[in-house]
Amino acid sequence: MARPLPALPESFAPTPDSVFTDQFGFYALDSNVPGLSKVILDKLNMKDYGEYRAALEGKAKVGFRSHKEMFEKMEETFKFCSSCSKLPSHLPDPRALRRCIKCLNVYYCSKECQRKDWPLHKKFCKMLRMVAVDRLVEWLVHTGDLPFPTEKWSRPVSEVRDWDDWLAMQGDLTPRLEPILSARNMTDLWANACRTRPEESELRQSIWRVCSEFFSRSLTLGLGVRIFGLDPYARPLTIHLAGAGHNETLGARVTDMDELSRMFPGHQGIEVVMVGPEVVQGPIMRPPLRAFGPRGKVYISAYKGLYHQFWEELVEKGEAARPDLVVGFHPGFHASQGLGEGWLPTLLLLRDYNIPSMFTMYNELELQYSLRILLELETHVKGSGKNPFGSQKPEQVQSSPNKPPSYCNSHYLCFHGLLEREPQVEEID
Ligand SMILES: [Zn+2]
Ligand SMILES: [Zn+2]
Repeated sequence: MARPLPALPESFAPTPDSVFTDQFGFYALDSNVPGLSKVILDKLNMKDYGEYRAALEGKAKVGFRSHKEMFEKMEETFKFCSSCSKLPSHLPDPRALRRCIKCLNVYYCSKECQRKDWPLHKKFCKMLRMVAVDRLVEWLVHTGDLPFPTEKWSRPVSEVRDWDDWLAMQGDLTPRLEPILSARNMTDLWANACRTRPEESELRQSIWRVCSEFFSRSLTLGLGVRIFGLDPYARPLTIHLAGAGHNETLGARVTDMDELSRMFPGHQGIEVVMVGPEVVQGPIMRPPLRAFGPRGKVYISAYKGLYHQFWEELVEKGEAARPDLVVGFHPGFHASQGLGEGWLPTLLLLRDYNIPSMFTMYNELELQYSLRILLELETHVKGSGKNPFGSQKPEQVQSSPNKPPSYCNSHYLCFHGLLEREPQVEEID
């Protein structure tokens, strides 16, 4: 089916509750740079993956004395020779590892390794520079400086086909970006990261890319509403975000999906329930609504657990509204590990209860794998393709930087119920 999975290190044996998407990715780092997962745990002062997860969930403290130390440790997880994959600890002199001066993102153990890597790296150097800037600018989402405020939609949803149309409605962004650029947090960021502050134009572009990832989430939900012909003016809508993880819920605020209200001004109420085993504690951790959403407002609630458990415990008993739409952001069910234990019961439930469903992927290949799985499950696939509101922020493969980047929500697919088969023709002899 999917591509062969890299071997897992001995320290990690999958258990029946291995439903955390990042656990697999975390150890997959080691297949490219042996020992990298351990470096990350070491830098975070953690002994194993369990502690790492606990910290993500806010149960254990990550012991950073300062932001400076945090950025330093984060940078150290990128320190390995991009050519021969050696970690600093494998070198006679760990300080011999030098950074590419152009992108400030990849390292080399020697001039020779850098020369050898250049024919390949030159294709990605420029992109990797953007990634390294975005990685820091992203911090401003946690401080609340980002995203920039947006306008009420002046055009109907059907006329806003892509980011260009959306940006055209926003008008001049300069007065909204100025306070972000001159904010104290922006200055502190570069000081703490021990990096020269990039040019203003480079920073503006980075702010846009980071914000596009943030807005991509609500705009993708809106795209699903449109594809399935749901009418938020006729009645309140309930949208379940299945498989929501720390990406969507870490530091989440109750206003995070307000773009939906600007998109459908005066709607009857939209509720977004974030459901997933990786949901992180925070202000959105409140019970889902039983029936009607608050008019004109987006209400975010959350449930920590697998989607089919949520369905049995709350939806079935009438303690949470039935969904009009279920969306999942890059569930990665093509990576067969998570499918049997996590996603399969959910996909079958969505199919059998005839729920309008939409999933996003990081790239075209992942879309193809996912489509194959849904066809095997005989779901009725209604559409798929490039998401016009995919994130514009490139993501590098941490352990293998010289590869084409992926983008959050870059592709999507929609399905609705069971594929109807043509009736068999009776054979006449
Ligand atoms: Zn090397
Ligand atoms: Zn470079």
